[in-house]
Amino acid sequence: TAPAPYIGRFAPSPTGPLHLGSLVAAMASYLDAKAHGGQWLVRIEDVDGDRNVAGADRHILASLQRCGMQWDGDVTWQTQRTALYDAALAQLAHNVYPCGCSRREIADSQTRLAAQHGANASLVYPGTCRTGLAPGKVPRALRVRMPDLPSHVVGFQDRWHGWVEQDIAREVGDFVIRRADGFWAYQLAVVVDDGAQGITDIVRGADLLDSTPRQLVLQDLLGLPHPRYLHVPVVLNDAGEKLSKQTGAAAFDNGAGPADLLAHALLPAARFLGLHLAAPSIAAFWQAAVPAWQRLLRERGAF
Ligand code: GLU
Repeated sequence: TAPAPYIGRFAPSPTGPLHLGSLVAAMASYLDAKAHGGQWLVRIEDVDGDRNVAGADRHILASLQRCGMQWDGDVTWQTQRTALYDAALAQLAHNVYPCGCSRREIADSQTRLAAQHGANASLVYPGTCRTGLAPGKVPRALRVRMPDLPSHVVGFQDRWHGWVEQDIAREVGDFVIRRADGFWAYQLAVVVDDGAQGITDIVRGADLLDSTPRQLVLQDLLGLPHPRYLHVPVVLNDAGEKLSKQTGAAAFDNGAGPADLLAHALLPAARFLGLHLAAPSIAAFWQAAVPAWQRLLRERGAF
């Protein structure tokens, strides 16, 4: 029988150049696609207009190519796909409601609730606008209604972490799919695009593990299949924070030549993933890395 089709993706937000942390996510998704004989798509997640950095998309794409990671098909930009998000919103109709609460109000009500229950405050939405906007409030964000239960556990089998679950009603609550500033929320855009692009396998950083249950719920509401998930460990800086431009990650590719990219980007990223390789060239690196990834996952029972 023919192998099952595999469509994976790397979905960077264009907030800055590729750095070791984002390279690890790119590499893992690329290796997994190649190891399965699948396609690897690249989608620029630029829905968050506040965080986009001009030119970062082109910079990321050029770095991927210089590292020998060629994508299949055309790159997509989320800002060119907003008609899809509008259509999804129409489809979600009854499950969506306008919310007039500010972050401050949500934080304050959580602080009060937490004080009453002797717990830590969080940003779980308390459902204030569920049954209609309170008097004097103007609609700001759009939220999607979670099942109306005291607890609603959503779980999935992660290929790296095993069974993962979250009580979405208690830990998240009704979440935002269109923000007060008018931008589509990551959660909605990512689910609509993964569905529209036929993504079968999502390989990304473990910082998104706690977003996956929300995405599974949206997939159900939109009648989309659940992809398989593999969340790889996240690179941390010395302070234990996720490596990102904000936490001082250095871009590795400002005019670096192939030997430098290999020594200072590809080999360290592979080592972080548990692949201890030596290779004389970028092409040789990928030739060795694909079967090494296969072996690594087989050992973990995740291939
Ligand atoms: N755009 C997200 C990020 O750069 C990744 C989204 C995803 O892989 O689902 O953090």
